[in-house]
Amino acid sequence: MSDSIFTKIKNKEIPGNIVYEDDQCFAIEDINPQAPVHILIIPHKEITKVSDTSSEDKDLLGHLLYVSKKIADRYDLNDNYRLIINNGAGAGQSVFHIHVHLMGGRSLEWPPG
Ligand code: 5GP
Repeated sequence: MSDSIFTKIKNKEIPGNIVYEDDQCFAIEDINPQAPVHILIIPHKEITKVSDTSSEDKDLLGHLLYVSKKIADRYDLNDNYRLIINNGAGAGQSVFHIHVHLMGGRSLEWPPG
């Protein structure tokens, strides 16, 4: 299988703004931001979606959320931000490499629709 668009950004094969990287994941600015801060937190491992994970991915999934919190702190989002994972095309997923959307910097309505 070919690399996902996010992996290509990480590998600098296509442009993108990488704002964080560690041994398990990396984070980029969303190309089409829906909030003043809109960051995607992505595992190095190319899992397509949450429903395709198994018990061996538990720690990695937790790590993605913890890194999301660390990045939110770095952007001074305090306790006002939203974390979203779209699972499947019917739920709005368009890139099939798991990613957490971190959105903040404006007031966020609920439900999102
Ligand atoms: P999804 O719809 O899968 O939950 O989210 C995919 C996100 O990836 C969208 O918010 C979209 O704007 C973003 N995206 C798609 N292609 C690119 C790209 O080439 N570069 C960056 N930085 N973000 C992208």
